[in-house]
Parts: sequence; C-alpha cells; structure tokens
Amino acid sequence: MGNESADALAKNAVTHGTPFTLLKPLIHLNKILNQELISNWKKEWDKTNLGKPIHELIPSPSFQNHNWDRREVMFFTEQGPFTSYLKRFHLRPSDSCSCGEVGNPLHYATSCPHTKAWHFSKPSNTNLLQWKRAILRSTRSRTRLHNMMSFLMANDILINGPPADLVILVTDELLFLQIL
Ligand SMILES: [Zn+2]
Repeated sequence: MGNESADALAKNAVTHGTPFTLLKPLIHLNKILNQELISNWKKEWDKTNLGKPIHELIPSPSFQNHNWDRREVMFFTEQGPFTSYLKRFHLRPSDSCSCGEVGNPLHYATSCPHTKAWHFSKPSNTNLLQWKRAILRSTRSRTRLHNMMSFLMANDILINGPPADLVILVTDELLFLQIL
C-alpha cells in the first residue's frame, strides 16, 4: 500500500471510524474525584467561620489525619476551659483568670502562675503560628500541652472562677441572708 492510500485510510478512520471509548484506569478516576473533592472542600473551608486559629494552622483541607487529641482541639481552636472563651458565652462573668490576667490559651501555656509546671516559652506575635506548629511537631510538647489542658479542665472553677449563673445564685443568696 502506498503512502497516499495509507493516509486516505487513516483519514477515513478518523472521520468515519467507529467511535470507541478508552477506559481510564480506576486509579486515575479516583485521583480526579479526590482533586474535585479537595477543591470543593477548600472553597467551603475558606467560606466557613471555623475560626482564624484553625484556618491558619490548616490552610488547606486534605486527607491527612492530623490526629489531634480533644485537648489539642480545645487549645488550638481556643474553645475550651479558658475564661476568654467562657466569657463570650456568658459562662463566666469576666474574661480574667483568677491570677488577674486575661485567661486565653496563650496565657495558660506561657505565663499563668497556676500552670507554671507546663509553661512553654512565650512567642512574639509574629512567631505565634510557628510556635503552634512547633508544639504540634513535638511529641514531648504535645504531652506537656495535654497535661496542662487536663489540669485546666480538672481545676476549672479554681482557676477560672465559678460559672456566671453560680455567681448570680451566690449573690442572690447573700442578698437573701442580708435581708434576714
Ligand atoms: Zn492566670
């Protein structure tokens, strides 16, 4: 067969040939689906009000398991036994720790006298994110953080004062006693 005939046959095959589908391997399909899923997830992740602290630590969602302990979730989301958080939900009358400073996670982890046994060195504002990442990278630091959080949870009222409704109750009882 000459070149011209071969070209004509090839052209004919392309223009009039029977269409066929070449199936891609399943692994390829999985890859495309995962990319699509991560892309949609990232859009939702960026829209969500999950909170700046977590968004900074995990800027992009992935299938990686971060293996965060419950105490680490509380510490890094800043939603735990901290007066700064409890006050926001009216669970404490003030955001002050019983030592007098604002009771946020950084306070307990670096400067509160009640938690001195587990203190980390205090980061500058610009190093805060690196400081959190360094804790998460170190097993020893994570254990120290677990212990500090367990202590905070076990001694919540001692450190953060009584809940707001208990304060009202105590105040009412005192008023009642004064009236008597
Ligand atoms: Zn304190």
